[in-house]
Amino acid sequence: LISGLHHFEVIAKLGQGSYGCVYKVKHRYDHKIYAVKRVILTRKADSEVMALADLDHPNIVRYITCWPGSDNWTPNQEKKQVSDAPDSSSDAVTFERDGCGEKDDDEDDDITSEMESLAVTDSKTYLFIQMEFCQGGTLTDWIKARNLMEKQRTIVEIHKVFYEIITGVEYIHSNKLIHRDLKPDNILFSADGKVKIGDFGLVVTQKDQNGDPIERSNRGTLTYMSPEQENKRYYDEKTDIFPLGLIWFEMIWKISTGMERAELWPNLRNKRFPNRFSDTHPTESKFIMEMLSCSPEHRPNAKSVKEKLDRFFSLDQDLLSQKTV
Ligand code: ATP
Ligand code: MG
Ligand code: MG
Repeated sequence: LISGLHHFEVIAKLGQGSYGCVYKVKHRYDHKIYAVKRVILTRKADSEVMALADLDHPNIVRYITCWPGSDNWTPNQEKKQVSDAPDSSSDAVTFERDGCGEKDDDEDDDITSEMESLAVTDSKTYLFIQMEFCQGGTLTDWIKARNLMEKQRTIVEIHKVFYEIITGVEYIHSNKLIHRDLKPDNILFSADGKVKIGDFGLVVTQKDQNGDPIERSNRGTLTYMSPEQENKRYYDEKTDIFPLGLIWFEMIWKISTGMERAELWPNLRNKRFPNRFSDTHPTESKFIMEMLSCSPEHRPNAKSVKEKLDRFFSLDQDLLSQKTV
């Protein structure tokens, strides 16, 4: 196997989730900056790259290529400079082999057999996924900057960003996929501020090859997860609409402290908004209320959310002119 990153200079570690590490890298030959995600090579990794490779949309993070690789670290080894980047400059990050905390939970994969082609038995090797580098950071950063009053967001800006998110999700659903892990950490921005939905680590197909529903294992991020994704064995793409309701609220409504958030969040998940929210944002609160419906059948699909937004925006020509996708 090819060692993972020898064509790249590692510039920084961008993120570390439960399943992978993401590095900001510079390609040694084309001198461009990319993001490379390293995940343990299991069938789950296959579904992530196969989905990414199929998707081609301005609001989905652009996939470049992927390759299998081992790394040059042995378990329990002390911190060590990445050895396949010998000439990397002094600001190159130092890696810790076990620092990624990746889980190898292949047992509860619920992917279809057509996605199993790359599966390997050696779970200690990795898949490196090269994608466009999203320089604008995550929606988490965006929300935080606003909450800390570092940045002011106009309602026009909020609508524009949310419209791009729902456009990306509509595209994912039209490709018969369910993202299953929509949350601010997984929504990125390009350098020019365009939304790029990322982290397809939990992506699944909507139906099996015979068009039948697929039994799911329960995974995702609890804070944003739909009730059925938490409790039910069968669910469909409407599970992605629930977190979008939470996200839209969070984009509009400033939550200043952790305590405020802890109080507000369970209420929000049960469609109870702060009074002032419904007063100041009547249209949005109506839309969000529908998106947070406990039963998926009562939630609008992505296409219909987009249509509602179009009608809402069309009341304001300025908004319309700012729509980018
Ligand atoms: P999680 O455990 O949250 O599912 P993960 O290990 O599956 O995380 P990602 O969500 O894909 O990994 O990436 C982790 C973090 O790395 C992101 O939240 C983001 O901060 C950063 N990141 C990922 N991809 C990119 C990219 N293309 N450009 C810039 N930053 C990125
Ligand atoms: Mg993630
Ligand atoms: Mg993930």
